[in-house]
Amino acid sequence: MKIGIIGLGLIGGSILKKLSKPGYELYAVTGNDETAEKIKNIAVKVSKDYDILAECELVFVCTPIRNTIEALDKLENVVTKDCYVTDVASVKEFVTLKKRPYKFIPSHPMAGTEKNGYDASFEELFIGAKWVVTPYDCRETDALTNLIKKLGAEPIFAEAKEHDKAVAMISHLPMYVSQCLFASALDNPLALKLASSGFRDTTRLAATNTTLAMDMLEFNGKNIESAMKNFVNFLNTLKDNYDSEILRNIKQKRLDMYSKDGKNVL
Ligand code: NAP
Repeated sequence: MKIGIIGLGLIGGSILKKLSKPGYELYAVTGNDETAEKIKNIAVKVSKDYDILAECELVFVCTPIRNTIEALDKLENVVTKDCYVTDVASVKEFVTLKKRPYKFIPSHPMAGTEKNGYDASFEELFIGAKWVVTPYDCRETDALTNLIKKLGAEPIFAEAKEHDKAVAMISHLPMYVSQCLFASALDNPLALKLASSGFRDTTRLAATNTTLAMDMLEFNGKNIESAMKNFVNFLNTLKDNYDSEILRNIKQKRLDMYSKDGKNVL
């Protein structure tokens, strides 16, 4: 299968590494000369130019969120109408506003780290992860979902609008809370010196790549604001009523949600 990947950062690089096996011909579009040198023995063709994608059967657009529409537009003049195209942007509704001349199926892997760039990518990134598929025009999703399974992930279908509300709660707001929690302790050197694993784990997302953080707010601001209101309601509930029954309930639900090796089992 001929597969194209645009943007060889954390997500695109991890897709490339995992699919670098017999049965796949990889075509990589990268603007970075160092990355191009590193992957020249993995991909069949590497270029800055989209033309190398002309014969691809499926293309992954793995650019920053803010560059996704530009990449999808450029592909209109390159790939055939039978080519499947997906983007991996963490926000989905904004990519569904235009009909495309190819088989476009927006998606979002629920896997990542706070790091970015090709050197941060690794082939096991998607193992055991959910990968949201949000079809709208093209309803033939097997080519993509089969590949998602090969990458080690589980395809989950959702409407783009519902996806954006959900990720605001479990991905985008946690990043802001993490940034605020970290910033709120910065004026206390003793607190920072004493901080151990609890503070480290709850502030991991404060180190999120800044481009991604800015894009999440710009492209999903309305949903993040609603999620924040919900969060503040719970903050006030617990402030006014720090009740052992409520806490036991929260604890049990949290324990039931993740396996011992940290995978979401819901
Ligand atoms: P990343 O590591 O920064 O990779 C993005 C890549 O896009 C860069 O390495 C670069 O690739 C290319 N790029 C940079 N600027 C560009 C521009 N102006 N125009 C076109 N391409 C450009 O970021 P990432 O974490 O992989 O994120 C990529 C996409 O995945 C985003 O849409 C993000 O929302 C989504 N996503 C991220 C995560 C996460 O946790 N990080 C999880 C799920 C989905 P080259 O150097 O090869 O040109």
